[in-house]
Amino acid sequence: MRVDEPVVVVGAGISGVACARVLTEAGVPVELVDRGRRPGGRMASRRHEGRPADIGASYFTVSDPAFEEVVRRWEQADLARPWTDTFGVVSAAGERSTTSGPVRWGTTGGIRSLVEALAVDLPITHAHEVGEGAVSLRDGTPTLEDRPVRAVVLAMPDPQAARLVDPAAHPDAVAGLTTAYEAVLALTAVFDERCWEELPDGLFVNDDPVLSWIADDGRRRCDGGPVLVAHSTDAHARPHLADPPAGGPAMLAALREYAGTDRDPVHSAVHRWTFAKPAHGRPETFLLTDTGVGACGDSWSEKPRVEGAWLSGTALGQELVRRFG
Ligand SMILES: Cc1cc2nc3c(=O)[nH]c(=O)nc-3n(C[C@H](O)[C@H](O)[C@H](O)COP(=O)(O)OP(=O)(O)OC[C@H]3O[C@@H](n4cnc5c(N)ncnc54)[C@H](O)[C@@H]3O)c2cc1C
Repeated sequence: MRVDEPVVVVGAGISGVACARVLTEAGVPVELVDRGRRPGGRMASRRHEGRPADIGASYFTVSDPAFEEVVRRWEQADLARPWTDTFGVVSAAGERSTTSGPVRWGTTGGIRSLVEALAVDLPITHAHEVGEGAVSLRDGTPTLEDRPVRAVVLAMPDPQAARLVDPAAHPDAVAGLTTAYEAVLALTAVFDERCWEELPDGLFVNDDPVLSWIADDGRRRCDGGPVLVAHSTDAHARPHLADPPAGGPAMLAALREYAGTDRDPVHSAVHRWTFAKPAHGRPETFLLTDTGVGACGDSWSEKPRVEGAWLSGTALGQELVRRFG
């Protein structure tokens, strides 16, 4: 293996971008590859008539001082802002209450803009899908799509990462990528005007077979846009993964009921997240095998969320810098 061979990070979500940033800053050659057309992964914003709505991660929280520094930079650049510490809670029987917790952060330009800001100047190849078994080994050197690399980092949900690894070449990697993920359908409903008076900024929906969460995207983005985003339960998403729009009518009916509106949206869309959230977290913050396969992402955290994914990518980047000094 030559020292100028890059570490290749597959996945330009927040964990992959965080890992690549640490490597770049330490002078270790790195390349990022993502099948999408923009960085962000599950921190996704989709434009409806020119306005981005957040259809993946709804918000993020901050507890680690290192992540706090990154968030302060986003705040100073007017990309992120404290949104709220209080959400509503409703039961399927219709009982309503509120719950307060840590500050939840929102964004002005859509949550994807945060990952795009972190990824500035990083070499990313977009619209390139790495195929099944593409991470292998030749003469003791890891390879990606038959090309020798210093190491391969898989920065994505475990089930997506595991299928990219040749199990005969990297059995330890496959054995470590075992966390199951829950599915979510995200319904974006764009109305002609704001027509829900009782709805808080965000509403946790408990014990409902169809919905688990509703966000007021106009309040989250601070522009008053007449847009609601509802997330389904795993149980509602699973039977509709092959045909997500078919899951939309039941979600819209439940959304209108909880929002207290009889209006129909002027536009709606359903997005499928087959691997939305890890079923559980874990104490390890990354995987790095002796054969040069790394893995990071939200499942490599006891709090599998945006902050946990950033911490995981950062920790793996630091370990690779130690290894390749
Ligand atoms: C509906 C939903 C709601 C959520 N709500 C919240 C929330 O409120 N708060 C919170 O903190 N977190 C929330 N999350 C979780 C949060 O989005 C994730 O923890 C975080 O974005 C994970 O980042 P990551 O880098 O680990 O993975 P990802 O963002 O999934 O990045 C993986 C990347 O890998 C790429 N990729 C995958 N396979 C391949 C391949 N074969 N070849 C090339 N590229 C590939 C993908 O395109 C993607 O860009 C939510 C997630 C979802 C889906």
